[in-house]
Amino acid sequence: MKKVALITGSSRGIGAATALRLASEGYNICVNFLKNKKIAEKVVTKISVLGSKAIAIQADVSAEEDVKRLFKAIDREMGQLDVLVNNAGILLPQTRVESMTAERINRILTTNVTGYFLCSREAVKRMSTKHGGTGGVIINVSSAAARIGSGGEYVDYAASKGAIDTFTIGLANEIAAEKIRVNGVRPGFIYTAIHADGGEPDRVDRIKHQLPLLRGGQPEEVAAAIAWLVSDESSYTTGAFIEVSGGR
Ligand code: NAP
Repeated sequence: MKKVALITGSSRGIGAATALRLASEGYNICVNFLKNKKIAEKVVTKISVLGSKAIAIQADVSAEEDVKRLFKAIDREMGQLDVLVNNAGILLPQTRVESMTAERINRILTTNVTGYFLCSREAVKRMSTKHGGTGGVIINVSSAAARIGSGGEYVDYAASKGAIDTFTIGLANEIAAEKIRVNGVRPGFIYTAIHADGGEPDRVDRIKHQLPLLRGGQPEEVAAAIAWLVSDESSYTTGAFIEVSGGR
């Protein structure tokens, strides 16, 4: 029987590339999205062509009831969950800390941090040997911003990713004996639409010359790192991070 993976925020960008990569490795996939049903359904169609089962479920990962509904749909339609990739994340237009409102900061934190906690909570309830499960893997998509801090751009976003790094280490320790591995990837400067949300669609092209590898990254290159952390090839790795950021 095929294993089941949920990738949050997989209608496009890094999430969609990860959904397709894991499908090509034989996983059945739950594609999660917030608003873009049409492009989420396109990802589902591509997965079907690869020979795996896929469903697309709308759910806001920052909303507790939505998260519960998302996992119940997986229980019902896909069966036992084996892999969670916490990927859904947002950033907001570049600004300095002195201009940030509480509303903005909380919006970033509820999606990028609370969302990862809520989805992990539901995954642990299903995967942990303590709860009758058979184990699993959780991957947290963090960011190079957690190390760099993103001063002058979006310190709120960078700080949310710093929280995810701490969360990854703590959760990995908490559930290692229950057959669940938890690891993180730190992408940086990847060609996706997220940079338009920051007010600078061509941000990667502006920065690429400053990177040791002298280019931006593709979502598929992040998906490849995630796929390794999901696979048994990384069976002795937990609480660890892979940098996918062009050497910076
Ligand atoms: P993206 O292209 O903007 O895609 C974001 C995805 O998340 C979409 O599928 C979107 O769904 C979904 N989403 C947004 N808010 C959501 C919510 N509240 N609930 C459920 N889904 C939600 O982003 P990306 O660049 O691929 O980024 C993916 C992850 O990588 C994020 O965690 C980001 O912080 C991280 N990252 C990206 C880069 C980079 O350079 N791109 C660098 C470092 C880290 P809809 O399509 O329905 O809106």
